[in-house]
Amino acid sequence: MLAVLRLNHRIGRDKRLSTHVALVARAFGADEIYYSGEYDGSLEQSVVKVVEKWGGSFRINYVSSWRSFLKTWQGKTVHLTMYGLPLKTVIDEIRNVFRSENLLVVVGGEKVDSDVYYAVDYNVAITSQPHSEAAALAVFLDWLYEGAELDRSFPDAVFAVVPSARGKKVIYRRSSAEADSDIRGYL
Ligand code: SAM
Repeated sequence: MLAVLRLNHRIGRDKRLSTHVALVARAFGADEIYYSGEYDGSLEQSVVKVVEKWGGSFRINYVSSWRSFLKTWQGKTVHLTMYGLPLKTVIDEIRNVFRSENLLVVVGGEKVDSDVYYAVDYNVAITSQPHSEAAALAVFLDWLYEGAELDRSFPDAVFAVVPSARGKKVIYRRSSAEADSDIRGYL
Protein backbone atom coordinates (compact mmCIF):
# COMPACT_ATOMS: atom_id res chain seq x y z
CA MET A 1 0.00 0.00 0.00
CA LEU A 2 1.27 3.43 -0.92
CA ALA A 3 -0.06 6.64 0.61
CA VAL A 4 0.87 10.30 0.22
CA LEU A 5 0.89 12.87 3.02
CA ARG A 6 0.56 16.49 1.94
CA LEU A 7 1.67 18.82 4.76
CA ASN A 8 0.22 22.17 5.86
CA HIS A 9 -2.70 22.62 3.49
CA ARG A 10 -4.18 26.13 3.64
CA ILE A 11 -7.76 26.72 2.49
CA GLY A 12 -7.90 29.17 -0.38
CA ARG A 13 -4.17 29.55 -0.99
CA ASP A 14 -3.40 25.86 -1.56
CA LYS A 15 -6.64 24.41 -2.91
CA ARG A 16 -5.49 24.18 -6.52
CA LEU A 17 -2.05 22.77 -5.81
CA SER A 18 -3.28 20.35 -3.14
CA THR A 19 -5.87 19.10 -5.63
CA HIS A 20 -3.10 18.63 -8.19
CA VAL A 21 -1.01 16.69 -5.65
CA ALA A 22 -4.01 14.43 -4.97
CA LEU A 23 -4.67 13.89 -8.69
CA VAL A 24 -1.02 13.09 -9.35
CA ALA A 25 -1.06 10.66 -6.41
CA ARG A 26 -4.14 8.89 -7.82
CA ALA A 27 -3.04 8.82 -11.46
CA PHE A 28 0.51 7.72 -10.66
CA GLY A 29 -0.39 4.79 -8.44
CA ALA A 30 -0.98 5.86 -4.82
CA ASP A 31 -3.87 4.27 -2.94
CA GLU A 32 -4.73 7.26 -0.80
CA ILE A 33 -3.75 10.74 0.24
CA TYR A 34 -3.70 12.31 3.69
CA TYR A 35 -3.39 16.01 4.28
CA SER A 36 -2.59 18.10 7.36
CA GLY A 37 -3.04 21.82 8.03
CA GLU A 38 -6.56 23.17 7.59
CA TYR A 39 -9.48 20.80 7.12
CA ASP A 40 -10.98 21.48 3.68
CA GLY A 41 -14.25 19.78 2.76
CA SER A 42 -14.18 21.39 -0.66
CA LEU A 43 -10.74 19.89 -1.45
CA GLU A 44 -12.06 16.47 -0.39
CA GLN A 45 -15.17 16.87 -2.54
CA SER A 46 -13.08 17.74 -5.61
CA VAL A 47 -11.06 14.55 -5.20
CA VAL A 48 -14.13 12.40 -4.50
CA LYS A 49 -15.80 13.73 -7.68
CA VAL A 50 -12.77 12.82 -9.79
CA VAL A 51 -12.80 9.29 -8.36
CA GLU A 52 -16.54 8.94 -9.02
CA LYS A 53 -16.05 9.93 -12.66
CA TRP A 54 -12.67 8.41 -13.48
CA GLY A 55 -12.77 5.27 -11.32
CA GLY A 56 -10.67 3.43 -8.81
CA SER A 57 -10.77 3.41 -5.02
CA PHE A 58 -8.45 6.33 -4.23
CA ARG A 59 -9.32 8.01 -0.91
CA ILE A 60 -8.58 11.36 0.74
CA ASN A 61 -8.34 11.77 4.53
CA TYR A 62 -7.55 14.62 6.88
CA VAL A 63 -4.99 14.24 9.70
CA SER A 64 -4.96 16.82 12.49
CA SER A 65 -1.40 16.02 13.57
CA TRP A 66 1.25 14.96 11.04
CA ARG A 67 3.58 14.11 13.94
CA SER A 68 1.36 11.47 15.47
CA PHE A 69 0.38 10.26 11.99
CA LEU A 70 4.05 9.65 11.09
CA LYS A 71 4.68 7.98 14.45
CA THR A 72 1.84 5.52 13.99
CA TRP A 73 2.40 4.84 10.26
CA GLN A 74 2.85 1.09 9.68
CA GLY A 75 5.67 1.04 7.15
CA LYS A 76 8.47 3.25 5.80
CA THR A 77 8.33 7.00 5.20
CA VAL A 78 9.89 9.05 2.39
CA HIS A 79 10.01 12.86 2.46
CA LEU A 80 10.50 14.59 -0.89
CA THR A 81 12.76 17.59 -0.45
CA MET A 82 15.38 19.38 -2.53
CA TYR A 83 17.75 18.97 0.46
CA GLY A 84 17.59 15.16 0.48
CA LEU A 85 19.69 12.45 -1.16
CA PRO A 86 19.56 12.29 -4.95
CA LEU A 87 16.70 10.10 -6.23
CA LYS A 88 18.99 7.89 -8.30
CA THR A 89 21.10 6.94 -5.27
CA VAL A 90 18.20 5.68 -3.10
CA ILE A 91 15.35 4.61 -5.36
CA ASP A 92 16.49 0.97 -5.70
CA GLU A 93 16.64 0.56 -1.92
CA ILE A 94 13.23 2.19 -1.48
CA ARG A 95 11.73 0.01 -4.22
CA ASN A 96 13.06 -3.08 -2.42
CA VAL A 97 11.59 -1.92 0.88
CA PHE A 98 8.24 -1.29 -0.85
CA ARG A 99 8.08 -4.96 -1.92
CA SER A 100 7.39 -5.94 1.69
CA GLU A 101 6.29 -2.77 3.49
CA ASN A 102 3.80 0.07 3.12
CA LEU A 103 5.22 3.37 1.92
CA LEU A 104 4.20 6.88 2.93
CA VAL A 105 5.46 9.64 0.61
CA VAL A 106 5.47 13.05 2.32
CA VAL A 107 5.38 16.31 0.36
CA GLY A 108 5.49 19.79 1.84
CA GLY A 109 3.83 23.08 1.21
CA GLU A 110 5.30 26.57 1.30
CA LYS A 111 7.19 25.94 4.55
CA VAL A 112 8.19 22.58 5.98
CA ASP A 113 8.84 22.11 9.71
CA SER A 114 12.47 21.06 10.23
CA ASP A 115 11.32 18.16 12.44
CA VAL A 116 9.93 16.44 9.34
CA TYR A 117 13.47 15.83 8.05
CA TYR A 118 14.27 13.79 11.19
CA ALA A 119 10.93 12.04 11.56
CA VAL A 120 11.15 10.12 8.27
CA ASP A 121 13.19 7.15 7.03
CA TYR A 122 14.36 8.81 3.79
CA ASN A 123 14.75 12.39 2.57
CA VAL A 124 14.84 12.24 -1.23
CA ALA A 125 15.67 15.00 -3.71
CA ILE A 126 14.22 15.14 -7.20
CA THR A 127 17.10 17.38 -8.28
CA SER A 128 18.50 19.79 -5.69
CA GLN A 129 16.59 22.70 -7.19
CA PRO A 130 13.31 24.14 -5.85
CA HIS A 131 10.18 23.29 -7.88
CA SER A 132 6.81 21.84 -6.98
CA GLU A 133 5.30 19.14 -4.77
CA ALA A 134 3.18 17.89 -7.68
CA ALA A 135 6.21 17.56 -9.97
CA ALA A 136 8.35 15.94 -7.25
CA LEU A 137 5.63 13.40 -6.48
CA ALA A 138 5.09 12.53 -10.15
CA VAL A 139 8.77 11.90 -10.80
CA PHE A 140 9.22 9.92 -7.57
CA LEU A 141 6.26 7.62 -8.29
CA ASP A 142 7.33 7.16 -11.89
CA TRP A 143 10.80 6.03 -10.78
CA LEU A 144 9.39 3.86 -8.02
CA TYR A 145 7.06 2.03 -10.42
CA GLU A 146 9.58 2.16 -13.29
CA GLY A 147 6.91 3.49 -15.65
CA ALA A 148 4.39 0.69 -14.98
CA GLU A 149 1.90 3.25 -13.61
CA LEU A 150 1.56 4.69 -17.13
CA ASP A 151 -0.26 1.52 -18.25
CA ARG A 152 -2.76 1.57 -15.41
CA SER A 153 -6.47 1.57 -16.29
CA PHE A 154 -9.56 2.14 -14.15
CA PRO A 155 -12.12 -0.43 -15.31
CA ASP A 156 -14.97 0.90 -13.15
CA ALA A 157 -14.71 4.45 -14.54
CA VAL A 158 -17.80 6.32 -15.66
CA PHE A 159 -15.58 8.28 -18.06
CA ALA A 160 -12.66 6.74 -19.91
CA VAL A 161 -10.48 8.27 -22.58
CA VAL A 162 -10.01 6.51 -25.89
CA PRO A 163 -6.42 7.43 -26.76
CA SER A 164 -6.40 9.33 -30.05
CA ALA A 165 -3.77 10.96 -32.19
CA ARG A 166 -6.05 14.00 -32.55
CA GLY A 167 -9.17 15.31 -30.86
CA LYS A 168 -10.82 14.09 -27.66
CA LYS A 169 -12.65 10.76 -27.48
CA VAL A 170 -14.27 9.79 -24.20
CA ILE A 171 -16.55 6.86 -23.34
CA TYR A 172 -19.37 7.62 -20.94
CA ARG A 173 -21.40 5.18 -18.81
CA ARG A 174 -24.27 6.34 -16.63
CA SER A 175 -22.84 4.58 -13.58
CA SER A 176 -19.64 2.82 -12.66
CA ALA A 177 -21.60 -0.46 -12.53
CA GLU A 178 -22.29 -0.14 -16.27
CA ALA A 179 -18.77 0.90 -17.13
CA ASP A 180 -16.96 -2.36 -16.65
CA SER A 181 -16.78 -4.56 -19.72
CA ASP A 182 -17.16 -1.96 -22.50
CA ILE A 183 -14.41 0.23 -21.21
CA ARG A 184 -12.11 -2.75 -20.86
CA GLY A 185 -12.79 -3.44 -24.50
CA TYR A 186 -11.53 -0.04 -25.56
CA LEU A 187 -8.46 0.26 -23.34
N1 SAM B 1 11.51 25.78 0.73
C1 SAM B 1 10.50 24.80 0.99
C2 SAM B 1 10.97 23.82 2.04
O1 SAM B 1 10.88 24.14 3.20
O2 SAM B 1 11.34 22.67 1.72
C3 SAM B 1 10.13 24.10 -0.33
C4 SAM B 1 8.72 24.29 -0.64
S1 SAM B 1 8.26 23.62 -2.22
C5 SAM B 1 7.38 24.95 -2.93
C6 SAM B 1 6.96 22.54 -1.74
C7 SAM B 1 7.33 21.10 -1.71
O3 SAM B 1 7.68 20.65 -3.02
C8 SAM B 1 8.49 20.70 -0.85
O4 SAM B 1 8.16 20.65 0.51
C9 SAM B 1 8.84 19.33 -1.43
O5 SAM B 1 8.03 18.30 -0.89
C10 SAM B 1 8.54 19.53 -2.91
N2 SAM B 1 9.76 19.83 -3.66
C11 SAM B 1 10.08 20.99 -4.24
N3 SAM B 1 11.26 20.89 -4.87
C12 SAM B 1 11.70 19.62 -4.66
C13 SAM B 1 12.86 18.89 -5.05
N4 SAM B 1 13.83 19.45 -5.79
N5 SAM B 1 12.97 17.60 -4.67
C14 SAM B 1 12.00 17.01 -3.95
N6 SAM B 1 10.88 17.65 -3.54
C15 SAM B 1 10.74 18.93 -3.89
